[in-house]
Amino acid sequence: TAKSAANDAAIIAKMRTLIDTLKTHNYAYYVLDNPILEDSEYDQLRRSLLALEEEYPDLVQPDSLINQVGDMPLSAFTQVTHDISMLSLGNVFEYDNLRDFMRRVNDRLSVAQQNPEYEIELKLDGLAVSLKYAYGKFVQAVTRGDGQTGEDITQNAKTIRNLPLWLADAADIGLLEVRGEVLMPKAGFERLNRLAEEKGDKTFANPRNAAAGSLRQLDPAIAASRPLAFYCYSVNQGLPESIETQSAALAWLKDIGFSVSAVKVVQNPREAQDYYESVIATRSDLPFEIDGMVIKVNSLALQQQLGFLSREPRWATAYKFPAETVMTRLHSIDWQV
Ligand code: NAD
Repeated sequence: TAKSAANDAAIIAKMRTLIDTLKTHNYAYYVLDNPILEDSEYDQLRRSLLALEEEYPDLVQPDSLINQVGDMPLSAFTQVTHDISMLSLGNVFEYDNLRDFMRRVNDRLSVAQQNPEYEIELKLDGLAVSLKYAYGKFVQAVTRGDGQTGEDITQNAKTIRNLPLWLADAADIGLLEVRGEVLMPKAGFERLNRLAEEKGDKTFANPRNAAAGSLRQLDPAIAASRPLAFYCYSVNQGLPESIETQSAALAWLKDIGFSVSAVKVVQNPREAQDYYESVIATRSDLPFEIDGMVIKVNSLALQQQLGFLSREPRWATAYKFPAETVMTRLHSIDWQV
């Protein structure tokens, strides 16, 4: 009918506005490392689009960004196609959503596999990179980019102090691919912004953008002067077969020379919630920013069985912290300068 056609046109117009706005902000955030909006404001726009798409699946626009990961890399770096795509994570914001996530996991498991063990890591607020080692020697670092193709930032990665260039204990592994987060610790970020302020240079909005901007400097000498750190959170190729869980994989990564952040194994959602609350209470003591925790099914065999749904794994989710923290961060920066 004419009425429903007019309604469709109005919905489409709303979707188009949201998509165009999100595109602008993705570019500012992922390509320029210079966001305009707070993350919580951006997330709200994204959720509005998602809600419309769920209500009107027939009207979903072909260029909807909902299933997109990150953004296309800048052309100044050599582009590299990932062997295995680098995806994002779904997220939950409260205990009920966490239980829903665990219920959805159970729905896909057999009776004998119900209520699997979960492993929890800190959600480090930096940028994801993939590192390759050939017979123990570091050979390549690539950013996540749009998930399929990233930027070759090998030269800059070599300047990260805690990134091992040689892994004696992995010398027998032809190809080891690990992934993790490059981040800028809080103290280094504050120092960097203070210096920029003194020189009248542009300051960074937050440690995440400072880390991304530093890692993607065309001059490795500048990257070297930036206080970056690398924390490893997965093995994507070359994991010894005897390792069967995510927690064991992280222990192995630590043994062979990587920095790994805190790991907690839990048996049920209540234990996960207790840990979430204890992390929120102590997060300001951490040397780096975290924006939540990541909850992963611990068994690697079950992870494989559960697989992926468009841009995210079915076996993991981010349990984000409340947005109030963004304000704290802004205030502390105001107060610093
Ligand atoms: P995400 O940051 O929410 O989650 C996925 C990422 O988490 C992974 O790629 C990985 O880098 C990281 N991660 C950290 N610790 C991890 C761990 N232990 N295990 C596994 N992964 C870990 O998703 P995203 O797709 O990178 O980006 C979305 C985020 O970017 C949102 O917070 C959004 O608000 C923000 N954003 C903001 C703007 C803006 O304008 N402000 C624009 C675009 C995106």
